[in-house]
Amino acid sequence: MSTAVLAVLNSPALDGTAAPTAFRLADPADPQVTVHDLGATRGDGVFETLGVVGGRAQAVDGHLARLARSAAMLELPEPDLDAWRETLIAVAERLPADREGFVKLVYTRGPEGSGIPTGWATGAVAPDHTEARTRGIGVVVLDRGLPHDVTATAPWLLQGAKTLSYALNMAALREARRRDADDALFVSGDGFLLEGATSTLLLKRGDRLVTPSTSLGILPGTTQADAFRSARAEGMTTSYEVLPRTALDDADGLWLLSSVRLAAPIRTLDGTDRPVDEAFTARLNAALLARRD
Ligand code: PLP
Repeated sequence: MSTAVLAVLNSPALDGTAAPTAFRLADPADPQVTVHDLGATRGDGVFETLGVVGGRAQAVDGHLARLARSAAMLELPEPDLDAWRETLIAVAERLPADREGFVKLVYTRGPEGSGIPTGWATGAVAPDHTEARTRGIGVVVLDRGLPHDVTATAPWLLQGAKTLSYALNMAALREARRRDADDALFVSGDGFLLEGATSTLLLKRGDRLVTPSTSLGILPGTTQADAFRSARAEGMTTSYEVLPRTALDDADGLWLLSSVRLAAPIRTLDGTDRPVDEAFTARLNAALLARRD
């Protein structure tokens, strides 16, 4: 991809020599990561994806905080957030300013036995999400198979950390496509609403925006946090709740929120039409697109 950009930081060189401390720009077409990297061999690491608008990465503080939170859950060395910030800004400002883009941060446990984590950031132009943001998406509900209190009963399952082990999330998206839908919404094994495969669920009830509580082992969404801020500025109220699956039925509107696609209204749920509030969706996406830093 001609617009791809790569910056590598804190990575042992391929020849095993010591780690550079600051990032270096590199050609994404060149090899950077060894076959022994635990991120590649075990999915042992964490990541973040930030939206980029006008060459500026969005919700930087929220993403860096979540990177640190995920790293702590995996007991990875504490990431140097100043170095990550510098790196992601350097990547974002090298993307075309007239296109929407994204920057992906990857932080792994590093080559097996080295004790040195690997970190890199890549950037690229984003796909066009206009249709998802306006017409909406078809979503199917899928069982994640874990109880809603999994973080208390089995914290080693790392629910709520943004780990590199996204094979399950990708399998859920393939299952959604098999069912003629665009995306998947997870529910807990005991019937509580969780999150999308790569997004946060937002429900509207009158003048109230609601999202499932992060106590349920789901990611704290940076896009949802900013959507809440902009809704409160409009005079709406917001809350985090533990919601049974039936809460979908009486919601006035449903959205899946994520950093690059932003707010995608749910147009069908398990094949049934849902109301799409076009005016509210347009305001929400305009507010999300207007964010800088
Ligand atoms: N939940 C999951 C499982 C995700 O993978 C993502 C984003 O990738 C989100 C929620 C939404 O997070 P954000 O709005 O910060 O992109």
